[in-house]
Amino acid sequence: LPLPAPRRIKALAQDVVNKIAAGEIIVAPVHALKELIENAVDAGSTALEVVIKDGGLKLLQITDNGHGIDKEDLPILCERFTTSKLKAFEDLTSIGTYGFRGEALASISHIAHLNVTTRTKESSCAWRAYYADGKLASPKPGQSAEPKPIAGRPGTQITVEDLFYNVPSRRRAFRSASEEYAKILDMVGRYSVHCLGVSFSCKKHGDTTSGVSVPANAGPVDRIRQIHGSAVANELVALKAENERWGFKCEGWISNANHNSKRTTLLLFINHRAVESPAIKKSVEQTYATFLPKGGHPFAYLSLDIEPQRVDVNVHPTKREVHFLNEDEIIAIICDEIRNSLSKVDTSRSFMTQS
Ligand code: ADP
Ligand code: MG
Repeated sequence: LPLPAPRRIKALAQDVVNKIAAGEIIVAPVHALKELIENAVDAGSTALEVVIKDGGLKLLQITDNGHGIDKEDLPILCERFTTSKLKAFEDLTSIGTYGFRGEALASISHIAHLNVTTRTKESSCAWRAYYADGKLASPKPGQSAEPKPIAGRPGTQITVEDLFYNVPSRRRAFRSASEEYAKILDMVGRYSVHCLGVSFSCKKHGDTTSGVSVPANAGPVDRIRQIHGSAVANELVALKAENERWGFKCEGWISNANHNSKRTTLLLFINHRAVESPAIKKSVEQTYATFLPKGGHPFAYLSLDIEPQRVDVNVHPTKREVHFLNEDEIIAIICDEIRNSLSKVDTSRSFMTQS
């Protein structure tokens, strides 16, 4: 058979590139929301309100009381790789904020209708801007794309509407709004437990009752009680582990041997970012196996601080996964400490029943 002639190689159009990149970062509404929560926390907010319509596909809105955005920065806010958090590549090794690549708002603007209302404390009014494909856009045909002054409190409100409106295949992949809403509640719940000093609420548009509601002054156990119920909150023990050699510290709250549920709940934060780690989850489950009845699973909230230069946060577009050095050693130390805590609780109980 004759070889086919080579096809010529051409650069993709920029808008195609941007849409592909956006689809990798924002796979489901919850990923957009996670970025927006992290931005609000980075901005020093102490109150976060989330409103959702149709599992976030119709509307995702988050209102914060953080430092706001300068009006002068609004024109480049949603351009790719514009950020106030990272200047040099080396900064990635010492990054203290959640965001760092300036990709989230840009991505969202390529696959949704996005508008931002923001006010710094120096500004006498709030400004509202609409975005499409990374740039300021006019809200309606014939209107100016310039940000407009409006009344508003200090802080920022981000409104994302019609997510994936221009990616029909992705849009069709979502079968159930309530499934997406459940993922959103789970994510808001995670940050509600972790972010002490910050109040959270999350509800469906038009609802009077909230799916999540945590006051700013609630302590960690009360936060867990609000989100996961008293049955768990009444059976928690504090966990602390650290090791200088591996450059890490771990704090958290874990269920004792009195508690067990059908599935493991692991709220895992590494350097204040909610992440998944199948390796940590598996080891924690194995550690609990000797303490819980067969088929029983634990609850664990673990917050790890690992020296930034030992962590690579840049392995995954969604930053859902992070890699760090000496993972096995660190996991072993944490699980030893879990074992310690659980056996301490056990002995004190058997001691009490004896006397
Ligand atoms: P990154 O968080 O990686 O910097 P984003 O696209 O998420 O990139 O945000 C771009 C910039 O917009 C941020 O660096 C920050 O300066 C500003 N910003 C975004 N959300 C907020 C917010 N809620 N409050 C204040 N500033 C914000
Ligand atoms: Mg960000």
